[in-house]
Order: sequence, then structure tokens, then C-alpha cells
Amino acid sequence: MVPPCHVAAATCHGVLPRGPVGCDDERVQPYTGSDFYCDVALRDTAALDVVHEDERVLAYHHTRPFWDVHLVVVPKRHISSLTTATAADAEDLRALLVVVQQVARTVEERYGAACVETNLGAYQDSKHLHVHVHCGDVR
Ligand SMILES: [Zn+2]
Repeated sequence: MVPPCHVAAATCHGVLPRGPVGCDDERVQPYTGSDFYCDVALRDTAALDVVHEDERVLAYHHTRPFWDVHLVVVPKRHISSLTTATAADAEDLRALLVVVQQVARTVEERYGAACVETNLGAYQDSKHLHVHVHCGDVR
């Protein structure tokens, strides 16, 4: 049976990992900034369950998954969003899409379905381009 795919993912609220980060106060407080990836995730990739990492792209299992299967793929260089990216970001976008394809293919092969999405505007909590690859029910 193919799991449901189109589950509204209006925002990442409640999905973002709470750490690890650099100081005790931050460890006990949820991240409240606007760029989780530059501020937290990309600073300590060893703390993540990484499935792919190269000089341009990081992909890992979400530490607080919203769906049964939930990975996130991000460019290492800061790009605010898909719709603000420019021709200057082409190499990073190309590299990102290659990894998104690999991760989505793996999820599709393993579970029979995958969703690939990125939030924009008010739906995008963390203002660093990131692509969710997910499958299954909302947790
Ligand atoms: Zn960033």
C-alpha cells in the first residue's frame, strides 16, 4: 500500500531540532532564529544522521521528523529560498537537485512513494533553502 503523500506542511513549526548547539542556554531552548541551517545544522554535521555530504550539499534525517520518513537536503552555501535564488546560485542548485534526486529515489524505492517539497514565503520558517523529502503519515 502506498502511504499518503499530500499532507499539508504549512510550516516547519515543531519540526526543527533543538540542538546540538554551542551553549547550555541554547541546548534547553528551541531554536528561535531565522536560519536554522547556517546557525545550527551546518555548524555541527557530526551531530546529525547524515545520508549525504559533499562540498556543496548536506542531506540528513530530520532530528524531529514531521513524517514517518523525513529527510532534509540543504545547500551548504547560504541561499535564502528557491524563489530568491539567482543565476549565481546555479552550481549549488544543480548539486542540490542531484542529491534531492538521490535521496528521493532511495525513499521511493524503499517505501514506494516520496514527496519532495520546499516551503516559500510565510510557509518557510528557516530562511535558508531546504528541501524536504518525506514519506508516510504525519507523526
Ligand atoms: Zn543560511
